[in-house]
Amino acid sequence: MVRSQDNTIRKIRAAVVRKKDGPLKIETLNMEGPQDTEALIRTVASGVCHTDISMVHHWETSDGPLVLGHEGAGIVELVGKKVKAVRPGDHVVLSYQSCGTCRQCKSGRPTKCRRFYELNFGFHRLDGSNALEQSGVRGHFLGQSSFSSYMLATERNMVKVPKNLPLQILAPLGCGIQTGAGTVLNMLHVQRGESIAIFGTGAVGLAAVMAARIAGAYPIIGADINPSRLKLAQELGATHVINSRTADVASVVNKIKACGVDFVLEITGNTQMLQLALDVLKKRGTAAFFTGDGIPDNIPRGKKAVAVIEGDSVPQLFIPQLIKLYRQGKFPFDRLIKFYNFRNINRAMKDSLYGKTIKPVLCMDQKD
Ligand SMILES: [Zn+2]
Ligand SMILES: [Zn+2]
Repeated sequence: MVRSQDNTIRKIRAAVVRKKDGPLKIETLNMEGPQDTEALIRTVASGVCHTDISMVHHWETSDGPLVLGHEGAGIVELVGKKVKAVRPGDHVVLSYQSCGTCRQCKSGRPTKCRRFYELNFGFHRLDGSNALEQSGVRGHFLGQSSFSSYMLATERNMVKVPKNLPLQILAPLGCGIQTGAGTVLNMLHVQRGESIAIFGTGAVGLAAVMAARIAGAYPIIGADINPSRLKLAQELGATHVINSRTADVASVVNKIKACGVDFVLEITGNTQMLQLALDVLKKRGTAAFFTGDGIPDNIPRGKKAVAVIEGDSVPQLFIPQLIKLYRQGKFPFDRLIKFYNFRNINRAMKDSLYGKTIKPVLCMDQKD
């Protein structure tokens, strides 16, 4: 392991995964840094994303102790010599990490960064070092590890945000919300009057529903097994909803749009839904798949399938755009959020897993 340049050590409180399926335990750890290219950020809030939960359930002994969390928001406390984009006191939302020097990054496509996997899921910095090494714990998850009282981030994954909006609300913009909205607006470029079906109306799906309404799509069909989510989907812009547990999705979509829909977003990861996504798609339509397993085999001729990474979003461009839409009342993503005290992180994860809460946000200082 390479040592970080700055050996200043500070005590932080972080939720550590030390065993499969959890529970996460809040521990005091030693963190070094910031390096010249990093900012030290005091965490105010962090969203909980399904990727965090699945990391806990897929944890193996060989992974070692980890700090997860990748929808962090906070206040810059210190900046390294080379950091120009933010100053102490600035409010920031964190997103995924990218190298900034590969051909994809240079041409404005950081989700396709050559080092994307390593920088976001490798639990180390660009130079291979780990700020939590002294405690024997691995951090830097998606360039942040936000389930912690302090985070380190670089200019590549920090977005300065207005100070007059609560960071607790803005936190989930960095992953789930950006992914759902970005898929519709940046990746598929859905146009007015085009038809879209969204399978799975959790945080990502509902962000996609709101974005589809902004784009002027019609119809906007939401499918889910949870009736309360379907009700919310309707309130947020779905023109039709289908309970996929009780109804035959293909025949309902067929009634709404006889030759199929232009776009399908498959967010459930359910094997049956994967197939259905291709079935209800019209010729020359595009299906977007969100699960880690990627795109199914045997794509029918004339139909297109794409794998989604963060909705092709460039955080520094897209997050300010989403904040503007939120201020205009067109993108009320705060309706998906429920707040939890950081110490109740295990409950927040459980509530998300069982569909009780759409988007849990952990607040570092919330009294309850
Ligand atoms: Zn890159
Ligand atoms: Zn995520």
